[in-house]
Parts: sequence; structure tokens; C-alpha cells
Amino acid sequence: MPDAKPAPAQALSAPQKALLKLGLTRDIDLALHLPLRYEDETRLVRLSDARDGQTVQVEGTVTHQEITLRPRRQLLVTLDDGSDTCTLRFFSFYPSHQKALAVGARVRVRGEVRGGFMGRTMMHPAFHAAGGELPDALTPVYPTSAQLPQAYLRKVVASGLARADLSETIPPELLGSLQRVVHGTWTLRDALRYLHHPGPDVSLDALEDRSHPAWQRLKAEELLAQQLSQLTAKRERDALRAPVLRTAPGGLHEQLLAVLPFALTGAQRRVGEEIARDLARPVPMHRLLQGDVGSGKTVVAALAAAIAIDSGWQCALMAPTEILAEQHFAKLIGWLEPLLAPLGQRVAWLTGSQKKKQRTEMLALIASGEAALVVGTHAVIQDQVVFQNLALAIIDEQHRFGVAQRLALRSKMTEGDDGQSREPHLLMMTATPIPRTLAMSYYADLDVSTIDELPPGRTPIVTKVVSDQRRHEVIERIRAQVAQGRQVYWVCPLIEESEALDLSNATATHAELSDALSGTVVGLLHSRMPVAEKKAVMSLFTSGHMGVLVSTTVIEVGVDVPNASLMVIEHAERFGLSQLHQLRGRVGRGAAASACVLLYTPPEGGRLGETARERLKAMAGTSDGFEIARRDLEIRGPGEFLGARQSGAAMLRFADLATDGHLLDWARQAATQMLAQHPTAAEKHIARWLGSKAEYLKA
Ligand code: ADP
Ligand code: MG
Repeated sequence: MPDAKPAPAQALSAPQKALLKLGLTRDIDLALHLPLRYEDETRLVRLSDARDGQTVQVEGTVTHQEITLRPRRQLLVTLDDGSDTCTLRFFSFYPSHQKALAVGARVRVRGEVRGGFMGRTMMHPAFHAAGGELPDALTPVYPTSAQLPQAYLRKVVASGLARADLSETIPPELLGSLQRVVHGTWTLRDALRYLHHPGPDVSLDALEDRSHPAWQRLKAEELLAQQLSQLTAKRERDALRAPVLRTAPGGLHEQLLAVLPFALTGAQRRVGEEIARDLARPVPMHRLLQGDVGSGKTVVAALAAAIAIDSGWQCALMAPTEILAEQHFAKLIGWLEPLLAPLGQRVAWLTGSQKKKQRTEMLALIASGEAALVVGTHAVIQDQVVFQNLALAIIDEQHRFGVAQRLALRSKMTEGDDGQSREPHLLMMTATPIPRTLAMSYYADLDVSTIDELPPGRTPIVTKVVSDQRRHEVIERIRAQVAQGRQVYWVCPLIEESEALDLSNATATHAELSDALSGTVVGLLHSRMPVAEKKAVMSLFTSGHMGVLVSTTVIEVGVDVPNASLMVIEHAERFGLSQLHQLRGRVGRGAAASACVLLYTPPEGGRLGETARERLKAMAGTSDGFEIARRDLEIRGPGEFLGARQSGAAMLRFADLATDGHLLDWARQAATQMLAQHPTAAEKHIARWLGSKAEYLKA
């Protein structure tokens, strides 16, 4: 029964449950479950021809069997295939092993040959009685789980493959260009049959690195499905309504520009106009604002808020942590409150740690519409928060929020008078620039604005890679900076497995620096501290009373202290490049010459690995956030950028954005054409590839 709903879980066997867990419910899911690698059981090899380390299949006669107890209990079997002999060694075995491998038995065994001092051996080879036909295709080895035996999985995949509807979904006029980019005329059916059961003389290399045309075809199809689903999502959103927001001459937007202590950069002005154009349309904006750390995104957000408020609507700004939210709040209050007060309006503030009384007060301001702007953390999207008329939602550091949270924010919009459902405009901000291929792929449904220029007067940050053995020199440098009235950040590594370790490391560093820099206030900030305490520490640093801040809570260093001129990152080799870049962006915000020291710790008695050194050198060599993001994509894959956006949903399974840009280019243009001219085939293609995940990808 193809594509039937799975039976209730209690009626299923263990392997069936395991299949469900792997998401293998439909025939097509099974057909698209591709081997990790292959085993060659198509031929028999003579022992004398087998190379050391090669996995081979041989057939021979057992000439000897014994159980030895030293060095540990094991079954030793000698196999003779006429060309040579080999010792089969089993550390765990049953009486059935002994019986099947009795002297005189003819067996076929498969395993890795080791040519040791004592002659050839195989550890725990697979074996069965000799004879029987040799298969004429390589044997697939599938990704599986403990409850799902490989042999069982092979059977269900083979039957899924046989039953699945693999008819062509790609329209004839797109096949030509597809065949050119994949270098072959493979159909989906051919490609899948081939990849599940390749013949014995294939190039395993081309299969393994997925450059084989059959792989290319699959990857192109997968990317097409992704593009189609994103385009569809965009069209559905374009059919929704949003309030039209325009600035009035002499209004809040103009007033804000007039009171800013600086002139906007060209890039800020340009993205501001892009956003203003979106807001003036009756369709919800869905825009990502990307700009390197320190490029000045906050003021762009404030100007967008001013447009919404000017039009008589509310705006919400959400940040991932209280420290960041508070920093925005302080800035925005400073800029906007003097302008809002004469209008009888205010800025409201919502966080998890807020006192109940204050919170109740804020909720009332928001519900009545008196709060024209609401700034806060996740608290902004909680159920009790009812807006009077929300029209614009701004999310800072968007990759730290999940799809569910974004959807919740969008649902805060009230219904229009006409009863038609409305959505607020959505502006997402990120300091991690998204490489082109990624933007075209996962973010294809987003409009992107880029701030590609830093405000003037920034001094370039000098980055140095220094071994921890020279730690004392670094501390001397801190002393010199502090003596000049400058401030210093010291970031301790996050140790994912253990918050306790994090803490002890930071505490030790804090003690060490306090000791070495007597007379200087050295502060400590870590993730386990109560919010109030964190805020107290931050305000000491922001106000300049604290000379050195030791911190583990990496993201909360997302603060803006122009007087800070030195950043030391301990165990820099443990951080991602984009993370390092973001951290580094916390200095160099004022006029002082600024530096970043990447402190690395070579492994005990050794040198730092080649790749790790290359990465740190790359950091020292470039300050271009885009270049760094591109390298990060190469090294770490898309997870770093996507964050929660895709969690729970399928990432690209087959395509690799670092190598498959040409397929992505094809998929992008094919998707537009297919959706316009062959909507039914497009729908079928999406369903085939994404199944139930398609809905999720739209968020
Ligand atoms: P980010 O993009 O990292 O969020 P911010 O918005 O925090 O950057 O801006 C960094 C600093 O630059 C802030 O102190 C901000 O007030 C300042 N700034 C923003 N735009 C300009 C500008 N055009 N000229 C001078 N300083 C600016
Ligand atoms: Mg910011």
C-alpha cells in the first residue's frame, strides 16, 4: 500500500518503529534513503592477492580450529583457500561459530586482511557456507540505527524502491539544461536504482564524493524541491495583507534623523530606503538585514520603528538576551523617548526577570497602545502580551530564534476591520553575513538588505595569534591598556559538555587577572549568574569603572563600549570563525587603536593542528565578515548560519552548498519557470521530496 498512513506505534515491531524514527514512512522516503557506502561481494579474491588493509571476500576450507585463553579468550580458525592461509580471530563467539567453522568446513568469509608478523589475519569476519551465487551489484550499506538490522533495512528499501512512484516531474523543456549541469541523461529512477545497487565496476570514488552524474541528478532534484517550496511560501505570504506604513513630513522619522549624534552612512541610508519601500506596501515585509558587527543596524531598526509609529501603529523589537535587549532599550529610549513624550507615547520594556508589578504596568501600556514601541526578550511573544495594533516586528540576532518564536510574533497582529487576516511586517537582523549560496538556498524566500560599510572613524582591529605560553606578555599588554584608561575584554571558552568546567576556568582566569592587575577592577560575567548580577557587572563595565571584564557568556558580550580597545580570546581554537569575528567586533568601536589577541593552547606536549592554525591565521588575515562566513560555511556547514531556522526540519541531505553552486543556480531558475508553467508537477515534486516537512519549511 503505497504512501499509506503508518499504523499506530503500539502495533509496530521494533524495526518498524525504528523506520518511523528515521522518517522512512513512505515508499519514496525509502527510495531516497541512500547508502553510506558499499561492500563488494561480487567477487572472490585469492588470499595471496589480498593487500594489507584491503576488505576482501575469500572462499576456502577450515584446516584448524582452537580456543586460546591468552592474551584473552578467543577463537582462532585457520582458513586455506589454496593460494595462502589466513587466521580468523573472534573475541566473542558462540558454539554455533565453532560448529560452522569446524575443520573441513568450506566457508565464504569477508573482512579486512591484516598481514601481521604471524601471517594474515582477519578480525571478526562475516562468514557463511561456501558456494551460492555471487551478487552482480555492490551491496549497499545504509545509515541505520541499533534497532534496525542492515539486512532488514536492505529488504524494505529494495521493496520501497520497487514500489515508489518515480515518474518524471521535471518538465521536458527543463530537462536539457538539467542534463547539461549534471553531465548525464539520468532519470530519477535510473539514478536511484544505480545508487542503491551499482554494478561491480563503478568508480567508488565518484560515488563517494558524490560527483557521479547519478548523484548530481539527485542533488539537483533536491535543490529544486527546496527552491519550489520557498517560492511557494513567498507567494503565499505575498497574498497576505499588512498595514501600509508611511512617514509623514516632519514626523518622527525625520525628527529622529535630526537628533542622531551622527550622519547615516551611505549603506545605512540605502537599506533604510529599502525597508521604507517595503513598509509602504500592503504586503507583509519579510526582510533580513545583514551587517557586520558594529555596522550600525540598531539605528536602522529605530528608523523603521519610527515609520510604524508615525503611521499610528506599534512596533516590537526582540533580542535574544536581556543584556542585549537592555542595551537596545537604553539606546532607543535615549533617541526616541524625548520625541515620543510630547505625543503622550512611551517605550515599554518586557523581560523574563521583570518584577510582577512592573510587568503588569507594561502589559497595560502595550494593550492600550500607549507604548508605541516594545523592546524585550522572548517575553514579548508570550500569550499575555496583547498589542493594541502591532504593525512591525523586529528580531535582532535572528538566528538565535526558532521558527515557532517567529510565527508567534507574526500572530500578534490583530485582524483588520475587513475581517481579512493580517500580518505584521517582519525585519530580521543578523551580524553573521550569509554567504551567497546559502542566501540563495535557505533564504530564497527572504529579501535581503546588506550594510556593507562601517561608520567612519573606526580604527582597524589588529589581530594577533599568540600561544598560551606567552600569556604573561598578554597580561602585560592589558596592564598597559588599562594604564591608558582603556578597557579590556577577556573571553573564556565555552566548553559545551560542561557548564561547571566553563565556570571554573573563568573563575581561575578572573582570580589570575585580579592578582596580576592589582588596583584595577576586574569583573566576571558567566551564564549561571542571576540576571540582576549580570546587569550590575555590565553597568560597571559600560560606565568605565571596571577595567577588565572576564566573561564566558559569549553572546552577552554583544555590548557596545567604545572605550574597550583590547579583546583577548582564550582557547580561540575552540571557537567558530564567525563567532571569533563577532567577538572581535566588540572592540574597535571608538577612535582608539584596537587589538584582538587569539590565545591558543597547543595540546599537551604538541603543536596545534594544521587546520586549527590555518583557521586562526585566516582570522588574523582578514576583517571581511563575508569572507570569514564563506570559510565557515566550508569548514562547518550551514548549521552555524541557519541556527534554529531549520531545526527539526530536513536540512539539505544530499546537496552541499560549498560544492553544488552550479546545481543551485539551475534549480533557482528552473523553480520559477516550473511554478509558472507547471504548477501541478511542481506540487508533486515538492510532496515527493519534502513530504510533511514542506509546511515547516515555510515558516
Ligand atoms: P550593530 O550593527 O553591530 O548592531 P550598532 O547598531 O550597535 O551595531 O552600532 C555600533 C555603534 O556605531 C553604536 O555605538 C552606534 O551608535 C554607532 N553608529 C551607528 N551608525 C553610525 C554612523 N552612521 N556614524 C557613526 N556612528 C554610528
Ligand atoms: Mg546589534
